[in-house]
Amino acid sequence: DLYEEEDAPADLGVRPPVVTIMGHVDHGKTTLLDAIRKTKVTDTEAGGITQHIGAYQVEENGKKVTFLDTPGHAAFTTMRARGAQVTDITILVVAADDGVMPQTVEALNHAKAAEVPIIVAVNKMDKENANPDRVMQELTEHQLVPEAWGGETIFVNVSAVKGEGIDELLEMILLVSEVEEFKANPDKRAQGTVVEAELDKGRGPVATLLVQNGTMNVGDPIVVGNTFGRIRAMVNDLGRRVKTAGPSTPVEITGLSDVPQAGDQFLVFEDEKKARQVGEGRQARAKEAERKQSSK
Ligand code: GDP
Repeated sequence: DLYEEEDAPADLGVRPPVVTIMGHVDHGKTTLLDAIRKTKVTDTEAGGITQHIGAYQVEENGKKVTFLDTPGHAAFTTMRARGAQVTDITILVVAADDGVMPQTVEALNHAKAAEVPIIVAVNKMDKENANPDRVMQELTEHQLVPEAWGGETIFVNVSAVKGEGIDELLEMILLVSEVEEFKANPDKRAQGTVVEAELDKGRGPVATLLVQNGTMNVGDPIVVGNTFGRIRAMVNDLGRRVKTAGPSTPVEITGLSDVPQAGDQFLVFEDEKKARQVGEGRQARAKEAERKQSSK
């Protein structure tokens, strides 16, 4: 309803891919996310401090990649259940010693349903009983056929614990991005999706927003799900205060009147009055819906 007309092709520029890591429990999603961040974010950049805001960016060969690091499949599934499509590429992690497991299949089915390209990261290659061939065999049965076998799926062998194969994985992400050409218009008011949100004792409602189109600025009036406000401050994934955030950038913001939900859409408005009007209207409708629900 609130979304403007499509962008003219001339206004679109390349944006970083947004990547979600999925896979069976204990196959190494968290370890891989940490390893990517650790190898790619130098201490001097971050001042040794990184901040968990639910998403982060790294650079490979001068190009940025955005990772969602919300635990488990939550990022992907809750957001998609709420109609938000934030993921451009899925990394399917499969432990080389364990092979394809139920949640591996679940994850690949989610990605397929969303038509999101899949890159397979065969993890735990440092283990003695690692069997990457078996993983390829098992995934072929699910129509993920490795390039090496004449298929189209990229497989990368990694060891998250040893930090091996990370560069190759990032290069493959950039390769897929080049083919898919993810684009956005940086020269308009920002819109995007809530990655996570909470009530902070000192700062009030705090939300990590992923800008999907446009550019967001401190001071922008904004409607986020059923809440609204004016952006008071923005902090990036390195814990630094920033004044603007362009396409595919995650930032933590303060200044909302209430705590939104992961998967909520947000939209920046030209003036605060309009944002308040739309926000309050949504709030009222949400309350009414809740009331009806509870009186059933
Ligand atoms: P998640 O549930 O998918 O997030 O898995 P975790 O990242 O929590 O990893 C589960 C376990 O596997 C932990 O004990 C990790 O230390 C271990 N692990 C993760 N990656 C590797 C790896 O590359 N090699 C080895 N040997 N162990 C790993």
